[in-house]
Amino acid sequence: MSSNIKLFSPGPVEVSEKTFQAFRKPMIGHRGNDFKKLYASVQPGLQQLFHTQRPVYISTSSAWGIMEGALRNLVKGKVLNCMTGAFSDKWNDVAKRCGYEAEKLQVEWGNPITPELLRARLSKGDIDVVTLIHNETSTGCMNPIKELTDVLKEFPEVLLIVDTVSSFSVLPVPMDELGIDVMLTGSQKALALPPGMALFSVSEKAMKRASEIKGRGYYFDFLEFQKNHEGDMTPSTPVISHIFALQSKLEDIASEGLVNRYARHAATNSLVHDWVKARGWEFFAPEGYRSVSLTCVKNNKGSDVAAWIGRLKSKHSCIIDGGYGKIKGETFRISNMGDETKETISELLTWLDDTFEG
Ligand SMILES: *Cc1c(COP(=O)(O)O)cnc(C)c1O
Repeated sequence: MSSNIKLFSPGPVEVSEKTFQAFRKPMIGHRGNDFKKLYASVQPGLQQLFHTQRPVYISTSSAWGIMEGALRNLVKGKVLNCMTGAFSDKWNDVAKRCGYEAEKLQVEWGNPITPELLRARLSKGDIDVVTLIHNETSTGCMNPIKELTDVLKEFPEVLLIVDTVSSFSVLPVPMDELGIDVMLTGSQKALALPPGMALFSVSEKAMKRASEIKGRGYYFDFLEFQKNHEGDMTPSTPVISHIFALQSKLEDIASEGLVNRYARHAATNSLVHDWVKARGWEFFAPEGYRSVSLTCVKNNKGSDVAAWIGRLKSKHSCIIDGGYGKIKGETFRISNMGDETKETISELLTWLDDTFEG
């Protein structure tokens, strides 16, 4: 076991011993052939997971690096932030801190952005970039990505940045087919790697836009990523240990099979959903829009969630999450991301029952 307390909170999640062994491999130089081979070896698996023909770039940063960097590469005029919870709300703040004119498309936490809302705003014009979080981890609400990207197709001059941090590899998000311009994810959620690395891919259209933008900076400059990618390298010294771990994880995913991986997440998620219903809890997100990688439960019983998690931790050496941001205590979240199986999730649910005191 890598830690004494197992994490069933939605990120970081438990990292397997096999992944840690890969992470601990001896260091190699980042401009040598061994690195180039390593970099090239992860491309096919990443492209398959992104469902893209485009290159997939590796960033030594958490997801926020690319969430901010994508704005700096693409925004010419005004950005529209689709806001449904803590992470997507913060993206608006980040855009403003970067000095952009940033407009809110805000819905009440727990709810999704609807295609009607998005179309109504884009029809008024003057937006050139939209940010969207596919799976809002704070509320357990998953946006209807197909319907929303269909709306974007009516506005070809508007670029779409999609955060798939907590949905990537949990269910298919076909980047090319949906016409996503920048798709990004982090390492510590569904991929079950340690935190500190982000992955992203950029459409041709977005690359062209980036080439017209001044002030892209250096560290997150998409053109630098592309230039280095052509030689199987990254712009600056990357987090090489993470790439070894990623290589190992992609082997795991290939041997499980993508279809089986998606089915495993659906199955573990529905175990949690059944438990929620059977115990008289309510969901924070409406039916039809619930996340497949985590479940955000409304604390409709007014329980002392923090005390419950304390008992879970001391008796069964694991934790769930006691709610994020302004809904801390009013909700709790159970993650089924990463390597969790029907067995491990069923076990967790019995431990939750065992430690619940009302
Ligand atoms: C966790 C999370 C982030 C933030 O990731 P960092 O690794 O902290 O940068 C962004 N978006 C979503 C949807 C997340 O779940």
